Amino acid sequence: MKNNVKDILEGRKFDAEKIITLLKAEGKERDELFRESARIKHNYTGNKVYFRGLIEFSNICEKNCYYCGIRRDNKKFRRYNLTDKEINDAAIYAHKNNFGSIVLQSGELSNPDFTARVTGLLQSIKKLSDGKLGITLSLGEQSKEVYREWYEAGAHRYLLRIEASNPALYAKLHPDDELHSYHKRLECLKTLKKLNYQTGTGVMIGLPFQTYEDLASDLLFMRNFDIDMVGMGPYIEHSNTPLIKYKNDILPIADRFDLSLKMIAVLRVIMKDINIAASTALQAIDPLGREKAVQAGANVIMPNITPGIYRDDYYLYDNKPRTGDSLDDCIESLKKSLKEVNAVPGYGEWGDSAHYFKRRKNSGK
Ligand code: SAM
Ligand code: SF4
Repeated sequence: MKNNVKDILEGRKFDAEKIITLLKAEGKERDELFRESARIKHNYTGNKVYFRGLIEFSNICEKNCYYCGIRRDNKKFRRYNLTDKEINDAAIYAHKNNFGSIVLQSGELSNPDFTARVTGLLQSIKKLSDGKLGITLSLGEQSKEVYREWYEAGAHRYLLRIEASNPALYAKLHPDDELHSYHKRLECLKTLKKLNYQTGTGVMIGLPFQTYEDLASDLLFMRNFDIDMVGMGPYIEHSNTPLIKYKNDILPIADRFDLSLKMIAVLRVIMKDINIAASTALQAIDPLGREKAVQAGANVIMPNITPGIYRDDYYLYDNKPRTGDSLDDCIESLKKSLKEVNAVPGYGEWGDSAHYFKRRKNSGK
C-alpha cells in the first residue's frame, strides 16, 4: 500500500511512520489532512469552542526550565503575585461574561502556604459563582495529597504538559536534578488520572534538538496515556534563557507555527473526542493563530483575563501578546473572528472532555 496521506487518513492504524508522513504533508495533501481533522472535529465535538478565562496569578517559580522566561534564575524582570481579591475579581469577570470555566496558572511552588492558598481560592471561586464556574489548574508538579485536596476543593481539570515525551529530549531542556525529573512528571500525570481529574498534557513544538520522530512519539504518548485534554503549541525563544543559544538551529517561526497546526490536526484524527486547546503561543506568532487552530481541530480557547497591569510580566517567551486593547475589546474581537471560522462559543458550559466520560465508563467508574 502506498504511504500517502489519503491512504493513511482512510486507515485506522497510526504508527510513527504514518504520523511523520502526515506532519510533513504539503500542498494538496496538507489540505486533505486539515479537511479530515475539521470533519472529525465537527462530528465529535461540534462547532462549539469553550472559553476558559486564563488567570496567570503569579510569575514566581522555584524551577529553572531552560526554555521559560519566568524561570527562577531570570532576575531581569519584575515578579508579581496577585492578591486573592484580584484573582476573585478576575473569576467574577469570567462568570459574568458567561465563560463557564477558568484556568488558574502560575509558576511552580510547592510550599504549604502556596498550596493552602490555592485551596482557599478554589473554595472562594466556587462560592462566588454558586458552583457554576468550572476550574482547571495548571500549577505544576505537586504531591498526591495536594492534588487530592485541590480536587476536593473544586478543581476538576489539570493541565501538566510533559513538554517532550522523549526522556532524552526532556533532559536537554531541564536541569539535571530532582526538581526537574521526567520520571516525577510522569508519575504526577498518573496520579492526576487516578484522582479522577480530567487530565491534560502537551508539548512544545519546534524545540532545539527535536525531530519529527520526537513529535510523532509525543502524539503516540498522548494516545497511549489515554489523555483527556491537550494544550500544545510552538516553542518561542526567550532572549534571557539558556536555550537562546540554539536560536539559529531551530525551525523558522512560520514553520513552527505550521507544524503546530499540523500537530493539532493529526491529534484530532487519532484522538477524536478529546479537548484540544488553541495555545496562546500561536497567537504570539499570528494574531489569528488561535482561530486557525480551531479550524485545524482545537475546541478550547483560553482568553487571558489576568489584570492588565500584570499581564506583561508573565513573560514566558519573546513577543508574548501584550496588553493593548481593553479586555472587553479583546473578547469582542475574539468572538467576531471565531464567527468567521464558523465556531460558536459554548457560553456558560464547562465544556468537559467527552473522552474523559467515555474513559471512565469503560473502566467501570
Ligand atoms: N509552571 C507550570 C508548569 O510548568 O506546568 C505552569 C505554568 S508554565 C509557564 C505553562 C507552560 O508554558 C509550560 O508547560 C510550557 O510548555 C510553556 N512555556 C514555557 N516557556 C515557553 C516557551 N519559551 N515557548 C512556548 N511555551 C513555553
Ligand atoms: Fe516554572 Fe513552569 Fe516556567 Fe518551568 S515552565 S520555569 S515550572 S513556570
